[in-house]
Amino acid sequence: MQKKPRMASNKRPHSRIRKLLWLIMPATLLCTSIIASPSLYAKESPETEQSFSDTHVTAIYRLYNRSTGEHFYTSHMEEKEALVKGGWKDEDIAWYSYTQGDPVYRLYNPFAKGGDHYYTTSKAEGDTLVYLGWKYDFGAQPVFFSGGNTDVYVEYNPHAASGTHNYTTSLREHQSLLDLGWTNQGVAWKTAAPAPTADGSESDFYVLNTYSKVFHEPDCLAIPKIPAYRHAISGKTADQLEQEGYIPCPLCDPTGDSFLEELH
Ligand SMILES: [Zn+2]
Repeated sequence: MQKKPRMASNKRPHSRIRKLLWLIMPATLLCTSIIASPSLYAKESPETEQSFSDTHVTAIYRLYNRSTGEHFYTSHMEEKEALVKGGWKDEDIAWYSYTQGDPVYRLYNPFAKGGDHYYTTSKAEGDTLVYLGWKYDFGAQPVFFSGGNTDVYVEYNPHAASGTHNYTTSLREHQSLLDLGWTNQGVAWKTAAPAPTADGSESDFYVLNTYSKVFHEPDCLAIPKIPAYRHAISGKTADQLEQEGYIPCPLCDPTGDSFLEELH
């Protein structure tokens, strides 16, 4: 197959060779199309990731429920808008997902105080949860798909009733939650691309203390002192947070205009 373009650039091949080429070429093309077809390829093959790049990408939105502390993920604009109307905070794009791949199912726990959602690529795990009283969301259809080179990490909060699982493509957010006492549950699934950084600044999120209404840089020394049930992660800008009544922490100075700075 590699020799094809080189032969074409050479002198005109002998007629017998040309005849041979006519015989070989369709067979070669047929072989190539079979190899390139993702459906005939094993799922474990690295080549499947190549074929994903031809498929469409969709934004996955993240929403935050102030009263339960839960983060919710959806690719459906109507669902996002309905939740924002219902009081959820719009945290913009969580990551980008391919519109095909391995299904990710969303399940709902009606027994958790305030309700809780869980996401899984395993139908068997989903079925087990349904057996235990959970319900499939979205008519048991996939809410989005796994595939690509970006890891989606999952952390578990053992102290929470709702919002027990957080999903993120940000290694910094992942690490900061582990530092706060969340349990590392590894890579939940793969996705196309991480969330864009809102303003090109170093971190793409702030850590909130939902009780004192203070927001911090993710590496602030004060964060480990915030109890897990009083902290939240927000992808909003400092201006947006201040409009919502949050004040910047004077220690880590997320806005860069702290009075402590002026003393130096
Ligand atoms: Zn701080």
